[in-house]
Amino acid sequence: MPPLHTNLYEVLEIPFGATTEEIKSSFRRLAKLYHPDIPFTGSYAKFQSIYFAYQTLTGVSRKQYDETFKKNYAKAFLKRKLEEHPIVLPVSRVRFTTGIMDLAKRGLMRKGFRNKDRRKVTGIDYDLVIDLKESEIIRPVIVVIPLTVRIVCRDCMGSDPHCPACSGKGSYKGYRKLNVEFPVSSLIPSKIFEFDLSKFRPDSFTHFKKKFLRVKLLIHKNIPLRTKTAV
Ligand SMILES: [Zn+2]
Repeated sequence: MPPLHTNLYEVLEIPFGATTEEIKSSFRRLAKLYHPDIPFTGSYAKFQSIYFAYQTLTGVSRKQYDETFKKNYAKAFLKRKLEEHPIVLPVSRVRFTTGIMDLAKRGLMRKGFRNKDRRKVTGIDYDLVIDLKESEIIRPVIVVIPLTVRIVCRDCMGSDPHCPACSGKGSYKGYRKLNVEFPVSSLIPSKIFEFDLSKFRPDSFTHFKKKFLRVKLLIHKNIPLRTKTAV
């Protein structure tokens, strides 16, 4: 006897709510294929399961089976819906690892010190951390990451030292939000992702400050209280 949660309709290759006639006709069709006496396609196990499905769905126990089926199906349907629907994380879950004040305190903001050098000292080889709760990793996660960009001045295309729009700087500082979706399969504790930011450029005028963005996922039982970081 197959386990009770088996979808008997699937076994008989018919839709839920099929008529008794449909059930009988499908059973006859499948029995001709899978009866143990049939050469090549015959299968005792397969025949047993279609026979069980046929008996259940044409007998007195169908009503009870259908009730359970509906309940389970609704549950499975809701679970699947939830899993398809991504969670958009609040911005507070994105932490930049290089708070300027923090680095300055450690003497790492000296002139000539590059990010690469800072990384060597701090041992942190990623740019930001995303805090996730254990209960969240059953759904895809969308993270909105604010990033600094330089935007080439469209008035002078960066070439007029007397341009009033950019006061001759050629470009100005701006912010862009990066929407990144992490599929469920990628939500692995402490995993580090590297994004090639050139692929995220919204237009040819916008340049990200960094070429690559390294993001580390931290998965917690509960989200820890944020320590104050200066940006
Ligand atoms: Zn300009």
